[in-house]
Amino acid sequence: MGEFELIRRYFLSMAPADGGDELVLGPGDDCAIQRVPAGRDLVFSVDTLVEGCHFPPGYSPESVAWRALGSAASDLAAMGARPVCFTLALTLPDASDRWLAPFARGLAEAGGAFGLALAGGDTTRGPLTVTVQVHGTVPQGQALRRRGAVAGDVIAVSGTLGDAAAALDYLTEPAPSVEAARLLARYHRPEPRFELGEALIGVATAAIDISDGLCADLGHILDASGVGATVDARRVPLSPALRRCCGASALVKALYGGDDYELCVTIPAGRWRTLPESVKGGLTAIGEVDASPGLRLLHAPGEAAGAGYDHFRSADD
Ligand code: ADP
Ligand code: MG
Repeated sequence: MGEFELIRRYFLSMAPADGGDELVLGPGDDCAIQRVPAGRDLVFSVDTLVEGCHFPPGYSPESVAWRALGSAASDLAAMGARPVCFTLALTLPDASDRWLAPFARGLAEAGGAFGLALAGGDTTRGPLTVTVQVHGTVPQGQALRRRGAVAGDVIAVSGTLGDAAAALDYLTEPAPSVEAARLLARYHRPEPRFELGEALIGVATAAIDISDGLCADLGHILDASGVGATVDARRVPLSPALRRCCGASALVKALYGGDDYELCVTIPAGRWRTLPESVKGGLTAIGEVDASPGLRLLHAPGEAAGAGYDHFRSADD
């Protein structure tokens, strides 16, 4: 199977028909064309998953697709953007149907679930690597940024944290319990918080998605905003499944583990009190922004404030 046959067989079939309102031209030409509606900004981000680094050799191709699209799309949610389309740069060791068919199926499912249409891509031979660039739009000038948190803001997170990190212990075996299966689902099928992100436009002063761990990602907001924070670790939301599977280490996973793709946001205290239940219900307040730099973690287990995952940091740094 040649390159073009491969593209046609697996990917062009999932691309939308040309002539959409926003994705005007999809794959098949030299470029795709996206039309950005008047009064909106284009927001885009690219992410790469490398076999052996971001997922183990032999990892389910469907889940590679869900994780690649989900992790990239989560960055759109963190900016408050509405998803539009994505491109896919795929590097494959060989053109095997056994890998490509389930990968393409997962990609079509995830694209449908996230509202992201395939706009184009690139296909090359080499070590298995999946790069996804996602495009979305936000009301002009209103994207949620990491910069903007001010002293007195409430710090809140969506959903529950630590589940995906806990799932790493079960990746290579059949799930030993219903709880472990729940944790694994969080890892295999990330769910970007698009609705929440959009609802927080004009409300949150800063936002980030939690891909590297709460402490590390909140740290990015604090650095970018030039502020500090106090977080009560007892208020960090943990799922029943995480508590049951991890016991005493559940909180460590929630504070330092990545891959949850929940949102961490800062909201002025007055605004927090009057937030409609439809938005507030998806959030848990865990602390407060203050003026003195650094992250103060109250009631945390005896572990230094974590740094999350950093590809270029060595163990002895
Ligand atoms: P060019 O040589 O002009 O860069 P390519 O030969 O790389 O074009 O790709 C031909 C067309 O197929 C382009 O429209 C491109 O977007 C699309 N394409 C290539 N690989 C993929 C893929 N994996 N998924 C979707 N579309 C793809
Ligand atoms: Mg070309």
